[in-house]
Amino acid sequence: MIEDTIAAISTPLGEGGIGIVRVSGPFAIEAVKKIFLPHTEKDLATVRSYTLHYGKIIDPIDETLVDEVLVSVMRAPKSYTGEDVVEVNCHGGVVAVEKVLELILKEGVRLAEPGEFTKRAFLNGRIDLSQAEAVIDIIRAKTEAGLKIAGRQLSGEVREKINTVRQKIINILAHIEVSIDYPEYEFDEISPETASKNLDEIILDIEKLLSSYERGRIFKEGITAVIAGKPNVGKSSLLNALLRKKRAIVTDIPGTTRDVIEDYLNLKGIPVKIVDTAGIRETEDLVEKLGVEKTREYLNQADVTLFVVDVSLGLDENDKKILGLINKEKSLLVLNKIDLVSKGLNIEEYLQKTGIKRFVPFSAKKLTGLETLEDQLYELLIPEQEGISENALISNLRHKNYLEKALHSLYAAKKLVLSGESVDIVAIDLNEALKDLGAITGDTLGEEIINEIFAQFCVGK
Ligand code: GDP
Ligand code: ZN
Repeated sequence: MIEDTIAAISTPLGEGGIGIVRVSGPFAIEAVKKIFLPHTEKDLATVRSYTLHYGKIIDPIDETLVDEVLVSVMRAPKSYTGEDVVEVNCHGGVVAVEKVLELILKEGVRLAEPGEFTKRAFLNGRIDLSQAEAVIDIIRAKTEAGLKIAGRQLSGEVREKINTVRQKIINILAHIEVSIDYPEYEFDEISPETASKNLDEIILDIEKLLSSYERGRIFKEGITAVIAGKPNVGKSSLLNALLRKKRAIVTDIPGTTRDVIEDYLNLKGIPVKIVDTAGIRETEDLVEKLGVEKTREYLNQADVTLFVVDVSLGLDENDKKILGLINKEKSLLVLNKIDLVSKGLNIEEYLQKTGIKRFVPFSAKKLTGLETLEDQLYELLIPEQEGISENALISNLRHKNYLEKALHSLYAAKKLVLSGESVDIVAIDLNEALKDLGAITGDTLGEEIINEIFAQFCVGK
């Protein structure tokens, strides 16, 4: 049971319309009551939960008015923290809000640490750790898609999924432990075949969750696409086509665009930062002036590369030099300037010579292939996987790491089952998996790590 009461300013510091001081703990209502003069005759200690009260904050020392406020009361356990919560909505600026906090702290209330309100919600069992983490994600969400993923996590979807998988492991363990504890009796002992089958199911569950991570991360954080190719193949034109506006300078003289040009586009909900590597010196002496290092730098940051070639000219040494710098698995071959090719294009040859599997015949000038290009780019980022759920459920790296650990233990358990190993050995791996899954919801995580997670929060949350 948490005994002390905490308070903090929950709104950003600075001049604003209102500022909120949040107080939580067994003494929250009493503390605010001592400095609050309600407009009508009423007693904060007895007002109903979820009510709002107009009045004044008075400094008890000299009885001066600090601010006119609205005080909301939310009683335990139905509050953000699961404790009694009082929020003082101040109308004044920074000074008034700070003064109100100061007065509350004088009433035996402690200043809250960063994330401590959310931590209390977790410790009081109102939310699990994955939901608490979703609070940070919501605060930091960059895109609407990211916000949606965090919202689902906050509503407890990750917790539910994890708990379902944990329950399945517990079911197997229950059988196993029965046979460990009472070896002399015949229980409906689980056969190796059944155990293996059940393990397969659990493994698939986790694999599905893991496969949703990449998707979750992409929608949450967005990706960087880099346009690469030798001078004059149409990189800037491609960027313009994608952005559907004139932005990069397009010229006939190779190497005229000098600055790195980047912009953002929304690719079917994925925030894409698109970078034109025009800034890499586009001069004749490629070996020297292309700035291999600089190119490498850009391409290292790339989640995907759009490798542009000019099909009216075909491939040459300069194309190959750039090809050597890109990750072909994560590249899309843009066969640009198809409008200049009258006879059929030998796509096979391009694929063979570049070693890139995905391609799109394209014309930046005529805007042909633009839609296919976007589709291909999307599929490169989010591969269609059979039997894999559409949902981007896991988007947190910590969750992913623990899922991977659990998966390893389950693979090991399955191997032991198949090799006819004794059940108590298998139980060790299953318990390990159980522990790792519990770390996601915070059930089996040490206090230190939990503190670390909440330390990422801002004060007042
Ligand atoms: P970059 O150096 O790779 O950025 O190439 P630019 O985008 O500056 O284009 C170089 C030249 O190729 C310009 O004259 C463009 O108009 C021309 N160009 C680009 N894409 C196409 C295309 O699809 N078809 C034709 N015919 N010309 C193109
Ligand atoms: Zn350019």
